[in-house]
Amino acid sequence: MQLALSQFYGNHLSRFFKREKCLCFHCSERMRKEGALTTVFQHVSQPVCCHGCLAVLNAIEKNGLVDEYLRSKHIDQGSAL
Ligand SMILES: [Zn+2]
Repeated sequence: MQLALSQFYGNHLSRFFKREKCLCFHCSERMRKEGALTTVFQHVSQPVCCHGCLAVLNAIEKNGLVDEYLRSKHIDQGSAL
């Protein structure tokens, strides 16, 4: 029991001290959260990996393709799992 508990705290602490990672909102590229680019998409600030992804999201919103984009995004994620 003691061992299990220290393992639990060990995992928790290492996760806390490791640099936080996040996924690009557009292409799901793993990247460091610190200093990441962000763009406002649907009034929510989202992390993006590069200016290319940022431009795509801006274009989608500007052209009113948000619903279509989100739908295809969910289909993509569903098939990847
Ligand atoms: Zn990206």
